[in-house]
Amino acid sequence: MLIRIGDVEIWRILEHELAMAPLVRVYPDLDGDPDAQALFRDLAPRQVDADGMWVIPVQSFLLKSPSHVILIDACVGNDKSVSQPPEWANRTDDRFLAGLTAAGVTPGDVDYVLCTHLHVDHTGWNTRLLDGRWVPTFPKARYLLPAEDNAHFSVAGPDGGPTLSFSESVAPVIAAGQADFVSGAHALGDHVTLVPAPGHTPGHVSVHIQSNGAQALITGDAMHSPAQCARPDWRFAWDVDTAQAAESRVKFLGLAAESGAKVLGSHFPLPSVGRVTAKGNAFRFTED
Ligand SMILES: [Zn+2]
Repeated sequence: MLIRIGDVEIWRILEHELAMAPLVRVYPDLDGDPDAQALFRDLAPRQVDADGMWVIPVQSFLLKSPSHVILIDACVGNDKSVSQPPEWANRTDDRFLAGLTAAGVTPGDVDYVLCTHLHVDHTGWNTRLLDGRWVPTFPKARYLLPAEDNAHFSVAGPDGGPTLSFSESVAPVIAAGQADFVSGAHALGDHVTLVPAPGHTPGHVSVHIQSNGAQALITGDAMHSPAQCARPDWRFAWDVDTAQAAESRVKFLGLAAESGAKVLGSHFPLPSVGRVTAKGNAFRFTED
């Protein structure tokens, strides 16, 4: 178990870590600015390797409450036709499923799968390839999908149709009748509430967990680095709406600082757990 929040156990389901792209490509504001690059390394030393590559974990969080088993995000998955990065294409890796087993859970035990957004590395294990067909990995689960992401990604492909990852990892779940489209501060059981944080994608949500006075917040992709707590204005290359994403980061960080919640950064360097405190006009992430 990673941490316990009141009656809710939170388990990390780590699929892999990778050096994804050059730091200055991921954060365009750092390009040609050595001072900004030095500040980033200072704030997130384990997120940049010796070659200047940006290094991240790809992980899900599994919540076990007395009443529900909830999977937050679904990593990249196996057998997917992703073109970039190459590490995400046609994976044949059982580490994700082994992580579920280690948490004492089988796919049939999962009540809810929540995708914080419908990007390839958050939806992959929604489905698995069985006899040449994509089927839901979690046979009894309701899949909660942000409604605005569904509207966006079902027509965001090159020909005006769905993206490839939507076709492989989202559409089969909808076809199986297991999808519920959610928006706003949707409540999921007694302990979990969605926190709208649009910008990275149109419907992106973060996650708020509360039990017996304890609290945790899961970033999803509202931010990707501890460095963005100090500099929420730094643009991230794959945010759909950069201004809205920056606004959502400030709002999320305000909630995190005010509540004193444990913060789980979905792509923050392992162990990806800490707290956020206000610091002047910005914030600071401290591992905890
Ligand atoms: Zn994303």
